[in-house]
Amino acid sequence: MTTMGDDAANRLARRKRVQFLKKLIIFILVMAILIPTILCIVLGVQLHHVRKELRELQTQIKETAVIYSEDVVPTAEADGEYTEEYEISGMDEFIDDLTGEADENGTEKAEEDTNIRKVYLTFDDGPSNNTERILDILAEYDVKATFFVVGKEEEKYQTLYKRIADEGHTLGMHSYSHKYDEIYQSVDSYGQDLNKLQEFLYEKTGVYCSICRFPGGSSNTVSKVDMHELITYLDEQDITYFDWNISSGDASSSYISTETILENCLTKLPQYKECIILMHDASNKNTTVEALPMLIEQIQAMENTIIVPITEDTEPIQHIRND
Ligand code: ZN
Repeated sequence: MTTMGDDAANRLARRKRVQFLKKLIIFILVMAILIPTILCIVLGVQLHHVRKELRELQTQIKETAVIYSEDVVPTAEADGEYTEEYEISGMDEFIDDLTGEADENGTEKAEEDTNIRKVYLTFDDGPSNNTERILDILAEYDVKATFFVVGKEEEKYQTLYKRIADEGHTLGMHSYSHKYDEIYQSVDSYGQDLNKLQEFLYEKTGVYCSICRFPGGSSNTVSKVDMHELITYLDEQDITYFDWNISSGDASSSYISTETILENCLTKLPQYKECIILMHDASNKNTTVEALPMLIEQIQAMENTIIVPITEDTEPIQHIRND
């Protein structure tokens, strides 16, 4: 009897334990569902409030932007017509980002909008038999470029210096003779060559050039003179030299296709805010001329990107410099 009584008591105790465990599991399950649901509702309500506040802010900022743009119109026109448009479009995307209304690239776009990309098309070694074609294309697209010219004495080239300047492009000095073994003999020989070109260009165009590009760039390895000495010389003359950060690749002596020129220029463009593209204006560089219309079109199609000529205010790109 005692054994049977114990068994019954044991079973009862076990059943109670099992029932307790069942209740515990159900309780945990209910909590596992309830807690996230409550949290979602609380956070949802908070998000709603935040978005509402942001929309109100958006309206306020847009109103301010309109007032701002009205204020800056004259300055924006004077400085070049891009400032005003940029300010407002950048602000819109910034707001869209905050309110979660932007597409997935919204953040990226807002970052891109913080600055305008400036692209400088530069042509070395002209004038040549291709200069007129280049100038015609630039005129067709209403684009201004920069020509680092050399001293050419043939009659057919004489009017081209003036045409470059008259059509609003920047005339820069490259070298009168463009003979590396002569100009890079000494500071004197470099200075004489550059001086000769400066006077020659002044005679042809009335423009007194104050920008230049070293033949082979400041990082050339052929100069017998330390390039730092030549840079000091230019500083003394108040002449600024410009290298490049994008090479079209058309300096190579072998044939280069228009596709390769385009690829060389366009793949590197997105990396920089200031892009100085090195190209050549030479009689044998036909693919450069052929690539030019497409290059201009592709650059113009890029967001927040403008093609401008180098001026005295342009921050130069220099491969080496004296610090
Ligand atoms: Zn050159």
